[in-house]
Amino acid sequence: MSSLLTEFVAAHERIFVLTGAGVSTASGIPDYRDDSGNWKHQQPMEYREFVERHDARQRYWTRSFIGWQRFRHARPNQAHQALARLEQLNRLTRTVTQNVDGLHQRAGSRQVTELHGSLDSVACLDCGTTIERASMQQQLVERNRLLADLSAQLAPDGDAYLNDFDASEINVPGCTSCGGIMKPQVVFFGENVPAARVEQCFNALANADAMLVVGSSLMVYSGFRFVRAAQRADIPIAAINLGKTRADELLTLKVRLDCATALNSVISKIDPQAGLVAQTKCDVVPR
Ligand SMILES: [Zn+2]
Repeated sequence: MSSLLTEFVAAHERIFVLTGAGVSTASGIPDYRDDSGNWKHQQPMEYREFVERHDARQRYWTRSFIGWQRFRHARPNQAHQALARLEQLNRLTRTVTQNVDGLHQRAGSRQVTELHGSLDSVACLDCGTTIERASMQQQLVERNRLLADLSAQLAPDGDAYLNDFDASEINVPGCTSCGGIMKPQVVFFGENVPAARVEQCFNALANADAMLVVGSSLMVYSGFRFVRAAQRADIPIAAINLGKTRADELLTLKVRLDCATALNSVISKIDPQAGLVAQTKCDVVPR
């Protein structure tokens, strides 16, 4: 299957890449869905609930305080590195990710659109004041010393499993400028991706001669719309995903492998430098 993927990548000069949770699972960040595309875990926070309910924000920030401590230590894996290398080789129009972990950039990719934003910063919903996530963490623990002693398993999107904890006493910091509600700069369920961000992705897709989906079940419309657009424009689509995707019947090629294995195999065959390294190794093989 990976040789067909290599052929697909080699046959196209400008590839539009869309990545999802599956690209980061090898970095220790859990994904949302099982192989059939169903929810594995608790449903993520909805935008309306977060904005309208103080108790929802207390729960969100408690779980997220704990999740962040592990999330921020995640490192890019071979799948992120392979995509960064494809960008260096000038083979990509853009890497669009549904993840909020920043791992593509840390692997060296520069042309990245974070479709759903990033957990790195937190903004006031009223006045727009933006602070770094580290500062929010600091404020949270200063007001709630007990948070320092909690631990829980990491959940998708920097969340944590902390179902039995009573968060009703948690003091959630407001905006330091106006006292407004602080929200991480990620797109919550029930919230729209900013139009300018979507347009940037469509422009990159328009300049592509192929689309590659990496580790996404495409169940969320924000990513699926690009597959639809590619199909309408007769742009061939390949996907690497262990499980079912919403677009299976639209795909030119489906590769059921983990993302790191599949992309490593591609890079080892099409990267001229990988070839040189292999060549050098052959040269020094003892007779
Ligand atoms: Zn404010």
